[in-house]
Amino acid sequence: MSPDVVIVGAGITGCATAYELSKSGLRVQVIEKYYPASMGSGWTLAGVRQSGRHAAELPLAQYAVEKWRNLDEALGADTGYVQAGNLRLARSEEEVKKVKSLVDSQQRKNLNIILLSNNKQVRDVAPCVSKKILAASFCPTDGHADPKSTVDAFKREAERQGVTFHIGESVQKLLIRNNQLIGLETSKRRIETPKCLLACGVSINELIEPIGLTIPLSISIATVIQTTRQEPLLAPVLGVVDGAVTLRQQRDGRFRLSSGVETWSGKITEINGQPYAFPAISKVQSTLEAGLDICPALEHFQMRSFWGGTIDLTPDALPVLDEAPNAKGLFLASGFSGHGFGIAPASGHILSRLILEQTPDLPIGSFAFNRF
Ligand SMILES: Cc1cc2nc3c(=O)[nH]c(=O)nc-3n(C[C@H](O)[C@H](O)[C@H](O)COP(=O)(O)OP(=O)(O)OC[C@H]3O[C@@H](n4cnc5c(N)ncnc54)[C@H](O)[C@@H]3O)c2cc1C
Repeated sequence: MSPDVVIVGAGITGCATAYELSKSGLRVQVIEKYYPASMGSGWTLAGVRQSGRHAAELPLAQYAVEKWRNLDEALGADTGYVQAGNLRLARSEEEVKKVKSLVDSQQRKNLNIILLSNNKQVRDVAPCVSKKILAASFCPTDGHADPKSTVDAFKREAERQGVTFHIGESVQKLLIRNNQLIGLETSKRRIETPKCLLACGVSINELIEPIGLTIPLSISIATVIQTTRQEPLLAPVLGVVDGAVTLRQQRDGRFRLSSGVETWSGKITEINGQPYAFPAISKVQSTLEAGLDICPALEHFQMRSFWGGTIDLTPDALPVLDEAPNAKGLFLASGFSGHGFGIAPASGHILSRLILEQTPDLPIGSFAFNRF
């Protein structure tokens, strides 16, 4: 029987939306080229952050944090979510000014964020932070989660409610007639469906350019480094004002460090059915240096692995969450610009409402396709 909705991509956006739609009783199929969380949603640092969010994204981040609090219970699984806060560290007087201004502006938006105005206050929250740090913002309701467990938890609960997942199948063409989606072609079959969500991350333009649409994405890369397991040392996520490094200790004890985002001229390499985005060695080095600068204890840890992760960056660093202007029934979700993990419970909620033709109850005007 033909599905009512096809979702392309089993990253966190596709799986969170599948979970939301599974409550509707519609027949939903998710089609994934590689395997769940094989790209951005597996490569991620997986911070769940409201602090430092663009004003347009803050309501989504706040909605999402409310959902994260009860997500393990709702999904009947362990997502590894820890609500232990986020520290944005200032390493110079110039950065102290920026942190103060961030705290002021986000307090005005009713975010629970405070200024820690000296090193002692910062180290009271995170004792492993360098004695060189001058100040920090602290948002205690931020946190982090385990990315693969989270995607798996959404997937399993969606499956339990009837969604089917088709792994190792690639969507290759959208079929449109009279400005209405009528189906799609995959590497294995032709599917008739009136509705389709493209939650395929950096690959979205490959599918929409043939129907005359483009999201102005600049495909960028961030470099991630993971250590071996360590004793519990750090609860909150640590970041810095210029974004050069973000790091956290996973619940399994490993530290995960991510670089800032930079332009990338490489392309995805497939090895044994797995996608890779290889980072530059110099970026591994500079990320380690930036990490050591804020958390000197890292010096004694062993490095277990490193990888690159692609980022679907838009000109305003906000996503597109919208129906395609020229194809009724085709929904677009991409351009998360390096912060789509934490807000996924909100994105899934919004996208499911759009697909079900219900008015979204979160502000989405800033995520329109035609704003560029
Ligand atoms: C290094 C790094 C650090 C990050 N840190 C954070 C953070 O701390 N906090 C935060 O909120 N966000 C963070 N992000 C961003 C966040 O991880 C992403 O925005 C989010 O995971 C994107 O999820 P997605 O489901 O939209 O896309 P993806 O996870 O990329 O999923 C897209 C899926 O679509 C599949 N696909 C593609 N084309 C096709 C096709 N034709 N047919 C079928 N399937 C297809 C892919 O295989 C993939 O599985 C980070 C990202 C990176 C890379």
